[in-house]
Amino acid sequence: MIKTDVVVIGAGPVGLFAVHQLGIIGLKAEIIDNLDKAGGQCIELYPDKPIYDIPGIPECTGESLTKNLLEQIKPFKSNFHLNEKVQSISKEKNNWKIQTSKEKIFIAPNIIIAGGVGSFEPRKFSIPGIEKFENTGVFYSVRDKNYFKNKKVSIFGGGDSALDWAIELSKISEVTLVHRRSKFRGAEHSSEVAQKLAKEGKIKIKTPFQIDSVEEKEKLTAINIKDDNGKIEKITTDCVLGFFGLIMKLGPIAEWGLNLEKKTIPVNTENFQTNKEGIFAIGDICSYPGKLKLILSGFHEGALAARACFKLARPNEKYRFEFTTTSKNIQEKLGVKKSD
Ligand code: FAD
Repeated sequence: MIKTDVVVIGAGPVGLFAVHQLGIIGLKAEIIDNLDKAGGQCIELYPDKPIYDIPGIPECTGESLTKNLLEQIKPFKSNFHLNEKVQSISKEKNNWKIQTSKEKIFIAPNIIIAGGVGSFEPRKFSIPGIEKFENTGVFYSVRDKNYFKNKKVSIFGGGDSALDWAIELSKISEVTLVHRRSKFRGAEHSSEVAQKLAKEGKIKIKTPFQIDSVEEKEKLTAINIKDDNGKIEKITTDCVLGFFGLIMKLGPIAEWGLNLEKKTIPVNTENFQTNKEGIFAIGDICSYPGKLKLILSGFHEGALAARACFKLARPNEKYRFEFTTTSKNIQEKLGVKKSD
């Protein structure tokens, strides 16, 4: 059981900056995200695209913004719990009990939901019976490529992830790359490399084919793929990897008894509290009159929510507003060295 001042759900740009705002006023935070890395939409949807409207930064990419936000919160040594989805929350006296998909339990007087458009989840195969092999024979991401070493691996998809993993795993596994269209939509260069590997007999490419069914003997043994004319081909396989992109699902957040409005959480703009005391919502997931789904709006929302968290986390102390430029207290928390 982990006790803290604030549990931040979502390590997107807004959740990350909220951790900074909590840190400078002396509150501890634990951050939970369903993804395997911090950065939310910035890192998952547009890591290389330039952003032009972060105040004071004329141009940065999704990736560099994330990197800088992480650098900015380093002094607070907050713990990240990645690959973990917050499943349920319940009230326990003056605290909230937060439970994750990995059965971790957090106890905190405050929760800041910075869940964006919900948790990112992979689009999955839709054929019957395949779900029981998930994480043993069927995968939607690669956590450890060595798991696939010396195995027969069938990779589905036409984008960058499918191409990149087909190329990478061809070094250690027997790879078949399957795509439902004749042309790949990933980077031209990766497509050329994959075609070259196929010519050299280092991978097999099957296009246009889709998965039709799986064969099993306790574990996955083979898959059948079907072309546009209905012709079926059997591929002996140990593992199947599907890279069909991500979908965003509000997921468990919808079941926490919070008021919802078109998949967003209404808040008051004084402190970004939801209809439940101690639960705040900031960033893309919150709604109020005039809301702009911009990173800069989320930064402001996090600053106000953090101050409101102080009241519940330190009921016997008075919050004092201070500037970072002049506050010795804040500078100490940031580890700023004194200059004469
Ligand atoms: P997100 O970035 O969506 O992060 C939310 C995180 O919460 C995710 O990582 C998700 O996995 C996690 N999460 C959700 N539910 C759970 C749960 N139950 N358990 C665990 N984790 C959970 N904005 C700008 O200001 N300027 C731009 O130029 C700009 N360009 C954009 C370009 C594109 C292509 C897109 C798609 C968006 C752009 N945006 C831009 C919008 C901006 O990215 C969003 O406003 C911003 O990412 C919102 O941040 P957030 O932290 O609220 O949510």
